[in-house]
Amino acid sequence: MSAMRASLADERPDVIVIGAGMAGVTAARALVQSGLRVAILEARDRLGGRIYTLRDFCAAPVEAGAEFIHGVGAKTWADVRAAGLRVRPNSHQRGAMMNLGDGSRWLPLAVLYPDVWPAFGILRRLARFDPTRGDLSAAQFIEHQGYRGRARILADMVFTSHLPGEPEDIGVQGLIADGALALETGRDFRIDAGYDRLVEFIARDLQVVFGAVVDVVAWSDRGVRVRTRNGQTEEAPAAIITLPAGVLQAGAVHFEPPLPPDKRAALAGVIMGPVLKLLLRFEEPFWPRRFSALYCGVGPVTLYWNVFHGVRDRPPVLCAYCTGPRAAALASLTEHEAVECVLADLRANFPRNRPRLAAWRRVDWAADPFAGGGYSFVRPHAADARHRLAAPSTGRLFWAGSETATEPIAATVEGAFTSGVRAAAEVAQALAPR
Ligand SMILES: Cc1cc2nc3c(=O)[nH]c(=O)nc-3n(C[C@H](O)[C@H](O)[C@H](O)COP(=O)(O)OP(=O)(O)OC[C@H]3O[C@@H](n4cnc5c(N)ncnc54)[C@H](O)[C@@H]3O)c2cc1C
Repeated sequence: MSAMRASLADERPDVIVIGAGMAGVTAARALVQSGLRVAILEARDRLGGRIYTLRDFCAAPVEAGAEFIHGVGAKTWADVRAAGLRVRPNSHQRGAMMNLGDGSRWLPLAVLYPDVWPAFGILRRLARFDPTRGDLSAAQFIEHQGYRGRARILADMVFTSHLPGEPEDIGVQGLIADGALALETGRDFRIDAGYDRLVEFIARDLQVVFGAVVDVVAWSDRGVRVRTRNGQTEEAPAAIITLPAGVLQAGAVHFEPPLPPDKRAALAGVIMGPVLKLLLRFEEPFWPRRFSALYCGVGPVTLYWNVFHGVRDRPPVLCAYCTGPRAAALASLTEHEAVECVLADLRANFPRNRPRLAAWRRVDWAADPFAGGGYSFVRPHAADARHRLAAPSTGRLFWAGSETATEPIAATVEGAFTSGVRAAAEVAQALAPR
C-alpha cells in the first residue's frame, strides 16, 4: 500500500474505486491483478471502513466494527490463510445465557418453559416461507404464528438480535434472500490479531488516497469524473462506488446526471439501521467463568458477549451490542448516562457480583458520517433491492459494497468481499478491448 498522499493519483487511473473498506480493496486488488491502474479514494485516514480494530482500548486488539468471520466456508478464508492470520472460534452457544424478561439464565434452562417451545420452530418456518404468496414484515410473520408471552419475545429476538430495525420494517423475503438465516446457524471465528489485518493484507500493493471525501460523481457511458470535498478531481474510464447505503441515502454524494429512478428505488428498499457497541473493560471478571454471551429479549442491550472468552491472560472485556431501537436509545444518552444504564442492566442480570468498570468506549455507527448506520436489511416488498443496487445500469459507474450483495450473506464482510470481486469483473469486461 502506498504511503498517505496529499493529492489524488499521480497517474491517470483506468479505474477509480470509491471507498477502502473490504469491498473497495477487494475490487481494487482484482483490477490491479488484471493489469489495470487503480486509484482508491478513501474519506478516512485508515483502511477498513466498518472493519475497525482498536489497539488502544486494552492490552489486546478489540473490534469496534465487524468482529466475526461467519462460517467455515466464507470466501475470505483463502486470504486469512494466505496472510497467516490465526483465528479463534467463537463459542456463543457454549456458555450462553438468555433473558426472556424474567432474569438471565443459562441457555438450556431459559428455554425449558413450555410457553417458549412454540417459537423453537421459527427458523424452520422461515426457511419454508413461500415467496409466491407475497411478502410480509417480520412483525406480520410473527403475528401469523400466534406466539405470545416469552415465545413472542424469543421470536422477536430471532429477527432483531442481528438486524438493526423494528420487526415492522424487516421484510421476510429480503431476510431470506440475504442469507441471514445462515447467521443463526453457522459457526463464527475471530481474527486474533484484529480484523483490520485482513484488509491490510488484501490492500498491501494498492494505491490509496486517504482523506479524499468524494462529494460529486459525474458519470456517463464513456467514463467517470469525481470531485472531492476539497475541490480536487479525478477522471477515469470507469469507477466503482463502494459507499455504504447510509452515506448514499443521506445525499452526501451528488450524482451528475442524477441516478436513474430504478437505482434510487433500490436504495430506498434497504434500511441502514443503527448499530452501537459499548465496549466495557472491568477490573476483574464479575461473570461466571464459562459465560460467553447473554441474549437479551428485554433491556437496553441486544446482546452482551465476553470478548476474550476461553483465551488465557486477556483483559476482562464485555461488548454490549445494540441494534435498531436499542442502539438509537443508547446513542441518545450522554456517554456517561449510557454507561450507567448498561451497568445497571448488568447488575440486574448478574446480581451476585458488583462490576468494577475500568474503561469504556462507545462506538455509534449511525453517527459516523462515512457509514451512516451499522449495516442494512431489506424492507417488506423490496426483496430485489440489493440486485438492483448492484446492477451495472449506470454507464461506466459500477456498484459494490456489502449493501449490494446477496451472496452468500448480505451486509457482512464476506458480502462486501464478494461484491468487490463481482464489480471488478464487470469493470474488466466493460474496459476489455472489443
Ligand atoms: C458494529 C458492527 C458489527 C459488525 N459485525 C460484523 C461481523 O461480525 N461480521 C461481518 O461479516 N460483518 C459485520 N458487520 C458488517 C460489516 O462490517 C460490513 O458489512 C462490511 O465491513 C462493509 O464493507 P464495505 O466495504 O461494503 O463498506 P465499508 O466498510 O463501510 O467501506 C466503505 C468505505 O467508504 C468510505 N467512504 C464513505 N463515504 C465516503 C466518501 N464520501 N468519499 C470517500 N470514501 C467514503 C468509508 O470511510 C469506508 O472506508 C458489522 C458492522 C458493524 C457496524
